[in-house]
Amino acid sequence: MIRSVRVVTHSPEETRILGASLAPALLPGDVIAISGDLGAGKTVFVQGLATALGVQTRVTSPAFTIVHEYEGRYPIIHLDIYRLNSFQELLDLGFEEFLDPKAIVVLEWGEAVEPLLPRSHMRIELRRSDDLDADDDRIVTFRVTREDWSRKLFEMRETAETLLDAMSEGQSEGNRFEDLSQSREHRDPRAGES
Ligand code: ADP
Ligand code: MG
Repeated sequence: MIRSVRVVTHSPEETRILGASLAPALLPGDVIAISGDLGAGKTVFVQGLATALGVQTRVTSPAFTIVHEYEGRYPIIHLDIYRLNSFQELLDLGFEEFLDPKAIVVLEWGEAVEPLLPRSHMRIELRRSDDLDADDDRIVTFRVTREDWSRKLFEMRETAETLLDAMSEGQSEGNRFEDLSQSREHRDPRAGES
């Protein structure tokens, strides 16, 4: 079972392709939590995802309104709670009601609200590269804990490899995705050292 993969994108277009690659695997009730600093590319990722889900309107940052809703193949609820400072603020907004089982819920967030995330979700982290010459590089890490999400992660990776290869006109980069599932930082500490 794959639990965690990492890939580097070199442009906003590539990040949109990653978002689009996740779309075919998703079903209503699925929750995607995207973390990362301001400007990391969270909204760019959601643009690719929403467009691939059939959203025709422009997808913009809900940073100031907290929530945007779109109609695609399914309803899409796009939240940005990055600026919220406390659980209380989030609860006051009726966070629980946003977790609509008929919709796909995509959440841009800071780390502060983690305990309120539903148990089953995919987590995506976007980070700028430390390499100062690679201003447009983003390190994108996907993490899941459950089997059903592991399958979606696998599908996303396959689709992304195909689409990214097509974008670079057949110049396959080989394995773009690094599988972190076996690496130390992601091993379940309860699983022992076998
Ligand atoms: P966030 O939602 O995380 O605050 P945005 O998606 O709104 O960030 O903005 C990301 C910015 O970074 C955009 O201006 C985008 O053009 C730029 N950018 C440069 N390289 C990339 C990349 N590889 N992936 C995503 N965005 C990128
Ligand atoms: Mg954003």
